[in-house]
Amino acid sequence: MTNEKVLIFDTTLRDGEQSAGIGLTVEEKLVVAKQLERLGVDIIEAGFAASSPGDHEAITTIAREVKTPIIASLARCVENDIDLAWEALKKAARPRIHTFISSSDVHLMDILNKDPEQVLTMAVKSVEKAKKHCDDVEFSPMDATRTDLEYLYRLIEATIEAGATTINVPDTVGYTIPSEFRKRIELIKDNVPNIDKAVLSVHCHNDLGNAAANSIAAVEAGARQVEGCINGLGERAGNASLEEVIMTIHTREDIFGLTTNVDTTEIYPTSRLVSDITGFIVQPNKAIVGANAFRHASGIHQDGIIKQRTTFEIMDPQVVGWSSNSLVLGKLSGRAGLKSRLEQLGYSPDDTELNQIFDAFKELADAKREITDADLISLMSSHRRHVDIKESYKLDHVQVTCGDQQIPTATVTILFPDDKLVTDASTGTGPVDAVYKAINRIIEIPNSLTEFRVDSVTEGIDALGDVTIRIKNDDGTFVGRGSDTDIIVASAKAYMNALNRACVASQ
Ligand SMILES: [Zn+2]
Repeated sequence: MTNEKVLIFDTTLRDGEQSAGIGLTVEEKLVVAKQLERLGVDIIEAGFAASSPGDHEAITTIAREVKTPIIASLARCVENDIDLAWEALKKAARPRIHTFISSSDVHLMDILNKDPEQVLTMAVKSVEKAKKHCDDVEFSPMDATRTDLEYLYRLIEATIEAGATTINVPDTVGYTIPSEFRKRIELIKDNVPNIDKAVLSVHCHNDLGNAAANSIAAVEAGARQVEGCINGLGERAGNASLEEVIMTIHTREDIFGLTTNVDTTEIYPTSRLVSDITGFIVQPNKAIVGANAFRHASGIHQDGIIKQRTTFEIMDPQVVGWSSNSLVLGKLSGRAGLKSRLEQLGYSPDDTELNQIFDAFKELADAKREITDADLISLMSSHRRHVDIKESYKLDHVQVTCGDQQIPTATVTILFPDDKLVTDASTGTGPVDAVYKAINRIIEIPNSLTEFRVDSVTEGIDALGDVTIRIKNDDGTFVGRGSDTDIIVASAKAYMNALNRACVASQ
């Protein structure tokens, strides 16, 4: 049994992206997919081809550019969905069609309005249809944890017979608990005669906070593929957090005798990238990737760690990609020092990129005495944000007056695509409102602001402020992020970032 693999199926770009208010561009999805390839996940679910032209395009692009992992598209059990999934996937080195249908009584009656036999026929026909396009077919009976067991056995047996090579058992509503789920997986193994012809997979949601534990219980029962998202993103309370599942298998190899193909040192860089791109901050106490995951506050613990790391640390932070060196850079640091630090943090800037970052670094070092890893990460991510989206409009200049006796007033200058500079001014209820109104006078993209958040990147009064906003209009929801030592400037940058995305989406 030793060294048997658990396949890691990442659905950050499908289930994760589906969650409220993410809305990524094709370029951003490609950046995430390339990082997932470096992380070493076995399968990337790149989207749901039939759901929108944007999803279709993202799958096509990822299928063309990302060659090591299997690339999957979701498809309902209807012909057109399966054809569209294949259409998007056909250039992939290793394509997979993932088809699903509801199987629980409550879903059958209330959503599909079909009887169980009709659903079984649709599932079989769809798997057969998918199989004509490609060999690798996954089937999911949606809401499997609330599905009648006898029916579930028959459905699984019939779809394997029709050619499904992976059978996924989703806890769609996050209802099960570890002992019950383990039992259900064991029963499926014992009662489906041809189950050895398919890989058994699970897809758990976190509505009761059990998603990772349920996934692990299923692995103990014999599941050999786990689906989930980086940082536990996903519908509602999210999917199983992949980093938690991966590190549980890795850390407790003594119990499981199993491994994954994941390069664990890429976990932290992946988490950071996904958080940057989606604008979903990782909570500080989040397992594995939260800022406090390896921070020991208690004196007794700190003393123990200094004497011997394993006293209070079950994982080496470096194994999950946290850098060990907390060396601080400053005004006098040179290009070479910056480059080597960035490399230790998992970035590999080329010369052009390094020059651009170095300028931003010098500017920051003037405003702020010490530049920490968190500052560098923030610099890199704001740099990437500009590279990853096509910027139609650039913020050239922003100036604000405000105070308790003044009417907040902002003057803004924006550089247009044709190199024309446009300046306008506005008053507002506060300085940020004034800036946003001035920008609105220049760039006429109607929208409403649905979220505004300021975080400080590091401690101290001179810390970088990181602003995350979401705006909404007829084309969708768009996230925008910006950082600067001045939070008003950071707010202006975040707004420009979101507007540029809205602009890309409307083209
Ligand atoms: Zn799901």
